Amino acid sequence: CGVVGVTGNKDATEILVSGLEKLQYRGYDSAGIFVDQPDGTNYLVKTTGSIADLRKKIGPEVQGTAGIGHTRWATHGGVTIENAHPQFSSDERFYLVHNGVIENFQELKDQYLQDVHFHSQTDTEVVVQLIDKFVKDGMSTKDAFTKTLSLLENSSYAFMLMDKEEPETIYVAKNKSPMLIGLGDGCNVVCSDSIAMLNVTHTFLEIQDGDMCIVKPDEVIVNDANGNVVERETFEVSVDP
Ligand code: GLU
Repeated sequence: CGVVGVTGNKDATEILVSGLEKLQYRGYDSAGIFVDQPDGTNYLVKTTGSIADLRKKIGPEVQGTAGIGHTRWATHGGVTIENAHPQFSSDERFYLVHNGVIENFQELKDQYLQDVHFHSQTDTEVVVQLIDKFVKDGMSTKDAFTKTLSLLENSSYAFMLMDKEEPETIYVAKNKSPMLIGLGDGCNVVCSDSIAMLNVTHTFLEIQDGDMCIVKPDEVIVNDANGNVVERETFEVSVDP
């Protein structure tokens, strides 16, 4: 299980897939990527096989400047394409990858999402459908994401969210699951382990439990659990020559 994300002036597909290859050592049962372009073109590719299988399924048309990727270790719902991540909202506007477990997903589904048709058996889909619901109720994506996070009880997560209407932005949140933001040149990355992104950058931001971050090609904004914009320490990851 691992997550990777990238936005900026690079080939997103290749960065995501090579990042997932480097995270394979952690074990997984399925994998997927979502990539998009500033003009609104986007692609979702998922597999229940290996990252090598994922690579084979990715045609030459799957190009983008921003995207998110995931290796899944199933906790809720079987090993199927539908349950592989990225998970998406019913109208296919929001895409979400998640490592971790949402303990109160059934309660949230019963309370808020009675009318929504679910396409997977994952705990994760409840989160992306909730964000979509709150946006339809009139909230901004940022506020809908923050509100959804506030409803999750005793849960662990490393989340990356993309909104097709903001194709260069990745919304990031973490609680009790590893997540780092890497700072590149004209490009920023997100990953559960720096090993996935050392070919892009060696400089990483240590985000903390409860943080919600907005990552764009030239900007990273970190909000703490109280919604205040904060600075987080950067550190350098050195690699053996
Ligand atoms: N609970 C989620 C699922 O079963 C995420 C699992 C993971 O951490 O990979 O889809």
